[in-house]
Amino acid sequence: MSPFRRKLRIAVVILIASILLDLALLALWMGTRGDSLSLTRASESRTDQNIDHQTLKLAASCGYVYFAWVHSHTHSPFVREHAHAAHWDYDHSPRDPGDFEPPEGDEPKWLTRIGVSANSDSATQTVGVAPTIITLNYSWRWVAFDCRLLLAIGLALTVIAVWRFRRARRPWKRLKLGLCPACGYDIRATPDRCPECGSVTNPSATADARG
Ligand SMILES: [Zn+2]
Repeated sequence: MSPFRRKLRIAVVILIASILLDLALLALWMGTRGDSLSLTRASESRTDQNIDHQTLKLAASCGYVYFAWVHSHTHSPFVREHAHAAHWDYDHSPRDPGDFEPPEGDEPKWLTRIGVSANSDSATQTVGVAPTIITLNYSWRWVAFDCRLLLAIGLALTVIAVWRFRRARRPWKRLKLGLCPACGYDIRATPDRCPECGSVTNPSATADARG
C-alpha cells in the first residue's frame, strides 16, 4: 500500500470515529435532559480492624456527564474477617424535567460558565471511648461536564478531521490525474520525478492511485 493511500485511510477512520463521537454526545445530551443514567461500581474490603468502601460512579443527568468517587475508611477493633466484594449497578430512571439543577461546585466562575464543575469534601468521625474507638474517614469528589461543552469539543475535532481528510486526499487526487502530488505540475511525461519541484514519485504510488 502506498503511503498516500495509508494516510488517506487513517484520515477516513479518524473522520468516521469523530462523527460517531459527535452523534453519541448529541444522543447523550438529548437523552439525559429528562432522564438519569448511571453506572456504579461499589466495592468493600475488610482486613484486620479495617473496612474500606469505595464507590465509582459514571452518570449522565440534566444534560451533564458526571464522574464521582466516594471513599470511606473505617478503623474498628471489632473487624475480624478478611473479605473483598465488588458489584456493578446500572440505573436508568426518568426525571422531572422541571427540576433541572446544574451542579454547583468549588470551581472558578469562568469554568462554571463553560460547563465544568467540580467539588470535593472529606470528614472524620470518631465513635466510642478508648480502647474501642471506631474512626470513620469519609471523602468524596466529583466532576461534571455540560454535554454541550463536550459536543462543542467533539465538533471542533470533526472540523480538524475534515481538514486532515482533505489534505490527505489532495496528493492522491493529483496522482490520479497524472499531476505531481507535491505541487500539482503535469508529470505524465516524467512520472518518476517532477520537473517543476523535483519531488520524486514512487511508481507504485502512481499505479495505486490510478487503480
Ligand atoms: Zn512537483
